[in-house]
Amino acid sequence: MKLTFARLGNLHIAGKAIFEALEVDVVLPPPPTKRTMSLGSLHSPEFACLPLKVNIGNYLEAMEKGANTIVMVGGIGPCRVGLYGEVQRQILEGLGHDIKMVVVEPPQGRLSGVLRQLRELTGAQTITQYIKAANIGWRKLTAIDALEKLALKVRPFEESRGDVSSALNTALMLLDDADNPKDVACALEKGKTIIEVCHKKDDSDRPQIGIVGEVFMVLEPFVNCEIEKCLGEMGVVVHRSIYLSDWIMEHVVKDAFRVLRKSKTPYELAKPYLCHFVGGHGVETIASTVDYARQGLDGVIQIAPFTCMPEIIAQDLLPTVSRDLGIPVMTLVLDEHSSGTGVLTRLEAFVDLVQMSRSSRR
Ligand code: SF4
Repeated sequence: MKLTFARLGNLHIAGKAIFEALEVDVVLPPPPTKRTMSLGSLHSPEFACLPLKVNIGNYLEAMEKGANTIVMVGGIGPCRVGLYGEVQRQILEGLGHDIKMVVVEPPQGRLSGVLRQLRELTGAQTITQYIKAANIGWRKLTAIDALEKLALKVRPFEESRGDVSSALNTALMLLDDADNPKDVACALEKGKTIIEVCHKKDDSDRPQIGIVGEVFMVLEPFVNCEIEKCLGEMGVVVHRSIYLSDWIMEHVVKDAFRVLRKSKTPYELAKPYLCHFVGGHGVETIASTVDYARQGLDGVIQIAPFTCMPEIIAQDLLPTVSRDLGIPVMTLVLDEHSSGTGVLTRLEAFVDLVQMSRSSRR
């Protein structure tokens, strides 16, 4: 068996570590490119949301490298995510691929079902091996988040453009090479040092912008046209509302152990505007915008895939949030036709607006 899974930011580093600890042969799809997007768009329904199209592109490219089994996380709720597994299976079968697809559904308090699926996928494994795999996977995941958070903090103060991005890549490579918890801790410390040295001595006050929106669009730099890098290189301190480990904790760990899946906070923050679950990250988008406004950030950017229902609901409510709390908000709706240049132009205009609003406030 040669197993693959879709790309989502740097999740593949932790995913590979987990499956390799379970002695599974992993074939990673190459980092997404225009070809990935074209392949996915060509074979997906036109109005499918962007994550599905990019995932299909990932799978096809991984199959070219020999992958014959796909694992993906299922979903529940009012949006289309619950259908993804079946739609993707039918697309790939329709293209004549003989592929095994395992959709791991949210456990909803029944961890036994997930364990049974994992056992079928990985062959008989001892509980110790599962614990070891989860341990190394979790450590890598939290280390990725720590390195990415640090990069967001340091990038606006880098000596030369691109320093932090290449330091982050080096740090992530060290992390990828680590194969036990001790090495992961060492790689994390080394990685932090490599990123921190890019900080030039300049403590000037920089504009601060929060990024909210659909999880795939926020976490995958290829589809969001490297928004964090672009803003950071313009001297903006970026605050990201979703990190991989938070997402796994909410959607997998808490869900598996019947802990209240959604912490109350997002609903309390979003309540005056949106008071029930609308699927995806609709509520979190509103809640994070309210939170960023209260923290005194200078602006918020919502990133949404074209036709994403939860983000459309949030987008409709954001102008009211913006007016009530006095925070500039911009929505970027992206699909396979979006261009990096177009996004950059809009970002530059938004940063100018944020700068002006900062000056007038002061
Ligand atoms: S949250 Fe949006 S992009 Fe994600 S599956 Fe649902 S509709 Fe599609």
